[in-house]
Amino acid sequence: MEGQAAPLFYSFPLAKLQEIVVEQGEKPYRARQLFEWVYKKRVFDPDLMTDVSKSYRERLKGAFSFDLPEVETREESADGTVKFLLRMKDGALVEAVLMRYDYGNVACVSSEVGCSMGCAFCASGLIKKTRNLSAGEMVGECLLIDQYLRPNLERLSHVVVMGTGEPFDNYDNVMDFIRIINDDHAMEIGARHITVSTCGILDKIRRYGKEGLQINLAVSLHASNEETRRLLMPIARGYKMEELIAACRDYVEESGRRITFEYILIDGLNDSDENAYELAKLLKGILCYVNLIPLNPVKEKPFKRSKRAYRFRDILNARGIKCTVRKEFGTDIDAACGQLRAKYQAKEAK
Ligand code: SAH
Repeated sequence: MEGQAAPLFYSFPLAKLQEIVVEQGEKPYRARQLFEWVYKKRVFDPDLMTDVSKSYRERLKGAFSFDLPEVETREESADGTVKFLLRMKDGALVEAVLMRYDYGNVACVSSEVGCSMGCAFCASGLIKKTRNLSAGEMVGECLLIDQYLRPNLERLSHVVVMGTGEPFDNYDNVMDFIRIINDDHAMEIGARHITVSTCGILDKIRRYGKEGLQINLAVSLHASNEETRRLLMPIARGYKMEELIAACRDYVEESGRRITFEYILIDGLNDSDENAYELAKLLKGILCYVNLIPLNPVKEKPFKRSKRAYRFRDILNARGIKCTVRKEFGTDIDAACGQLRAKYQAKEAK
């Protein structure tokens, strides 16, 4: 490890941390103690961890980094949405968003630096993926948002992995991240309050269904037929829609959980009555829920928002498909995925 920076403390689930502290010659309960200092008391400096021996505190400082991402800029919307542009240790810029629903405070977390999925309507893909985020960097996104809420005696209650990046392209780190934020000795975000969104990577959809956690899955479908999906999402060239739907059925069967399909309504492209009938047929018999998303227009992209969202919803509902139109947040602050970062980087480059 010589010459390498110490790993982020926040990257280790409790079980893994227990192994590490034992290797360091400490008792396993130390790991829980450290978790509580960091995630409960929010003490990020080993020197202040008073029930840990002085000599171990010194070793901790060498063994782990306790750095949090830095807040590069923050934009606050009139509706309470807050968009954070975070700078990681290596300089990488990452977005995380706080949204306030009536049921709780939701963090929308990025899973990668940039994204290589290339969806036609999305601003994240404007900057290609340069690397995965570590579990600890994703935990850092949540810690910063929770720290922002604390002075008002609020807390982060829900997490969606729907920011920049394809979480199933960074599967192991995302799963470690989930285990950490879900842990009772850490941030205690309930599994049912955690959702991962994928553009549709089949083997990972099946694997996710076998994790044995009560976490949620959302699949970005955005089309009612193969042709339209291929037009919008390059991933569709690799996996047929029929195979995707089969994987989703397997997921539901394996996990026993309802699956969410996300469907961005785009004017004249996927929002006709026929598209709604087609979609209803495609999803028939699957324990699912459809989230209709009003397109967040991106300057660099040609697509327009559909005006048919409620009609589309009504058709699906009439055919027995549970469906809602997603509430919008922060349109006054470029809250669409990747927009703040793209804007900021363009400005920096000038
Ligand atoms: N890569 C994952 C997660 C990140 S995108 C995925 O594809 O699901 C999270 C959600 O935001 C996806 O449903 C994505 O299609 C949607 N999204 C991307 N750009 C958008 C835009 N301009 N307007 C509305 N939703 C958008």
